[in-house]
Amino acid sequence: MPTVITHTAVAVAAGMAFGPKEVPSHFWALAIACSVIPDADVIGFSFGIPYGHFFGHRGFFHSPFFALCLSVFVLCFFFRGLEIFSRQGFFYLTFFSLLTASHGLLDAFTNGGLGIALLSPFDSARYFLPWTPIEVSPIGIDAFLSRWGLMVIKSEVLWVWLPCSAIIMVSKFIRAWVVK
Ligand SMILES: [Zn+2]
Repeated sequence: MPTVITHTAVAVAAGMAFGPKEVPSHFWALAIACSVIPDADVIGFSFGIPYGHFFGHRGFFHSPFFALCLSVFVLCFFFRGLEIFSRQGFFYLTFFSLLTASHGLLDAFTNGGLGIALLSPFDSARYFLPWTPIEVSPIGIDAFLSRWGLMVIKSEVLWVWLPCSAIIMVSKFIRAWVVK
């Protein structure tokens, strides 16, 4: 997995680039939560759930289907009073779905661990993308505080932080000069 900080960076970049000018106060907390929540499945290791299990790490909770379910939940519980089929409701539904799904997709760019169950629950196969430039992050802080951790940070800065910064700058330019 890319680190929690990098998934958070994606949430902040997505919110800044694509979010409306005025957002409710809980928008940022929800955006960050959606981008990192799939990794809560590592808890399964403590309960004896194997890595390759349906609910194992990088399993169902990393799928776009789960992302859609989580997004519906977020809308129902944190955006009460907002009509899902309104323009704004559709925006938030799409935003939180894509943001949560971005987690599994980013993990599929990593070069280690088991693949991601991108088609779960319909197909439990684990997938990587054909191009995997992101160094996989070790699970556990001890392993992270090593040379491996440094390589992870380097690859995440190059392949995630820089593109995120570019997206923020382009969107700021478009908002300032094109869409006034
Ligand atoms: Zn993950």
